Amino acid sequence: MKTDILVVGAGCAGLTAALYAARAGKSVLVLEQDTVGGQIAFSPRVENYPGIPSISGAAFADGLLAQVEALGVRVELETVERLLPGPPHAVRTDCGVHEALAVIVASGVRHRPLGLPGEDALAGISYCAVCDGAFYKGRDVAVVGGGSTALQSAELLAGLCRRVHLIHRRTAFRGEPQLAARVRALPNVALELGCTVEALESRDGKALSGLSLRDGSGLRPLAVDGLFVCIGQIPGNNAFAGVLALDEAGYVQAGEDCRTNVPGVFAAGDCRTKAVRQLTTAAADGAVAALGALAFCGD
Ligand code: NAP
Repeated sequence: MKTDILVVGAGCAGLTAALYAARAGKSVLVLEQDTVGGQIAFSPRVENYPGIPSISGAAFADGLLAQVEALGVRVELETVERLLPGPPHAVRTDCGVHEALAVIVASGVRHRPLGLPGEDALAGISYCAVCDGAFYKGRDVAVVGGGSTALQSAELLAGLCRRVHLIHRRTAFRGEPQLAARVRALPNVALELGCTVEALESRDGKALSGLSLRDGSGLRPLAVDGLFVCIGQIPGNNAFAGVLALDEAGYVQAGEDCRTNVPGVFAAGDCRTKAVRQLTTAAADGAVAALGALAFCGD
C-alpha cells in the first residue's frame, strides 16, 4: 500500500515526525522492528523533557504512541531490510515492500556490546536494568559504564539488589552530575573506578558467576550474579548503506535540516550525525524532518 510519508523507527524522533505529518493531513506509516518508543521506553525516569517534571520512559512512549494513533498514523512491527530509492521511494521489509512519496529514517541506535568471549551465550548479562533488574532481587550485580544510562541503572538496581558494583574505566563519570552525586551517596553501591572488565567468568559454562577486573594493581576477581552493560550505543543503519551516505561510525550523514544525500529521504534523531543525542533533540529532529518531507511532497 502506498503512503505519503513513511517513517522508519518508532522512537521519539520517528513518532514526532509522524505527529507533524499526520497533523498536516498526510497518510503516515511508521515501521518499527523492536520496541515502540525506542531507547526511552527503557529509561526508568525522564526528568529533562520540558514541561514534564518526571515520567517513566515507558509512560512517555505510551503517550506518544496514543497521540499519533489518534491522528490515524499506522504503526506496524516490521523490520526494514533495504531502502529502495525512488521516486517513489520504497522500503523492503521482512513482510513486503512499502512505497512512499518521502521517507524519514529515524532508526535510532542499539546497545554497544563489551565484545568479550561469552557475552552472547552466558545467562546473567543484560543491557537493560528496567527490563531485567527484578530477576536480581537481593543478589549482587555489576553495572559497567560511566554515562547517564549506567548511573540510572545503578540507582535502579540499588533499590532491588543487595550490592551493586559500578565499574567505570575512568575516575570521573560522563553522565549527569546530579545523578552521579545520588549514586555516589547510595550505601550499597560500590564504585570500581579506573577499572575495566577483562573477562566474564562462569562456573558451569552456562551462567555468569563473576568478572575478572583489571585496575592499576592488576587483575582481581569479582563475584556477581548479573552484569548490566551500559557502555553507550551504536547505530544500526545497514539497511541504508550504499544508498544513504553514512559516516565512518555508521551514522546517516545529515545536517540540522535532516536532509540526506537522497532527495526526499530525511534522517532524524540518534541515527544521524549530530553532537547531542537527547530526547529533546530527537523530538526537534522529528519536527524538522517532517516539515522537510511535507515540503518535498507538496500539496
Ligand atoms: P554514553 O553517554 O555514551 O556513555 C557511555 C559510557 O560507557 C562512557 O562512560 C564510556 O566511557 C563507557 N564506555 C564506552 N565504551 C566502553 C567500553 N568498550 N568499555 C568500557 N566502557 C565503555 O552512553 P549512555 O550513558 O547510554 O547515554 C547515551 C545518551 O543518552 C547520552 O547523550 C546521555 O546523556 C543520554 N541519556 C540521558 C539520560 C537522562 O536521564 N538525562 C539517561 C540516559 C541516557 P568514557 O566515559 O571513558 O567514554
